Amino acid sequence: MKSILAIMFCCILAVSTQAETRLDGDFTQGGLVIGATEPGSKVALEGQTIRVSPEGLFVFGFTRDAPGMVELLIESPQGRLEQQNLHIKSRQYDIQKIDGLPPKLVTPPAKILSRIRREGAAIKKARTRDTAEAMFATGFIWPARGRISGVYGSQRILNGKPRRPHFGIDIAAPINTPVMAPADGIVRLAEPDLYFSGGTIILDHGHGLSSAFLHLDTLTVTVGQRVPQGSQIGTIGATGRVTGPHLDWRINWFDRRLDPGLLVGPMN
Ligand SMILES: [Zn+2]
Repeated sequence: MKSILAIMFCCILAVSTQAETRLDGDFTQGGLVIGATEPGSKVALEGQTIRVSPEGLFVFGFTRDAPGMVELLIESPQGRLEQQNLHIKSRQYDIQKIDGLPPKLVTPPAKILSRIRREGAAIKKARTRDTAEAMFATGFIWPARGRISGVYGSQRILNGKPRRPHFGIDIAAPINTPVMAPADGIVRLAEPDLYFSGGTIILDHGHGLSSAFLHLDTLTVTVGQRVPQGSQIGTIGATGRVTGPHLDWRINWFDRRLDPGLLVGPMN
């Protein structure tokens, strides 16, 4: 009896590994999708090959203004092709128009400009790594508790000029509130004083997926360190260009900015 069951189980497994790919996540602008397919498969999103872990896991995401449909192509180790046309829901963002502002005549001095450029390059570099480990597989939890004071995608139009949209989720809380790793990761950047973002940490969750934590008061991790989900990485602060203490949490898939709010449930 035991052996018959074992044979049956084995055959079901053999069939299911040949069956379709499973996709989990938000098929919406700013959304993240985690896929599981037969190990050894190749996966391409819009014709671009993406990393598949030895277990068959992969990840990808959609920008704030992603088109209504994208094509995902999966090639099994046997060469069988599976094409999926993914429909992406569009979103309404909070757009604020403010007119009649006096024109700003401030131009940062050259010294500040070169600092901003240098720091921007370091941030970009930390976000373009394609680390083999699928650390994102732990899923995501809130990195801090507090009041949501800013959301993904919102934008201000000042004197008719659209400003850069806000890409993080802002969690307002007192200075010294702990900040935790929302998923397993490796620290790729830990800077106590960047011009715009002050105390900043970038965590690599694997396969191009990264989290950034801005305006920190203290940093309790160093570059190269591995951090498990839920362990403390720093504390909330008001460093960089801010008006009050808060954590700005951002998620990137390479240079694509995703909505961290979609990865976690309501905060309790
Ligand atoms: Zn923010």
